[in-house]
Amino acid sequence: MSRCVHCGAELPAEAQINRRFCDDRCRSAFRHAQTRRRIAELAAELARLRAAREVTE
Ligand SMILES: [Zn+2]
Repeated sequence: MSRCVHCGAELPAEAQINRRFCDDRCRSAFRHAQTRRRIAELAAELARLRAAREVTE
């Protein structure tokens, strides 16, 4: 049984092969969450780079 990547709900048997999400809402919510995580990672990386530069200057 495959499950929705976003909310973990079981997908209908006929949808197992090609679907990873229950519906478009789950798909877009998952994509937004990924984007937010990526932005947070970039912000953390930028903070690290700034901190490293302050040490060397
Ligand atoms: Zn879902």
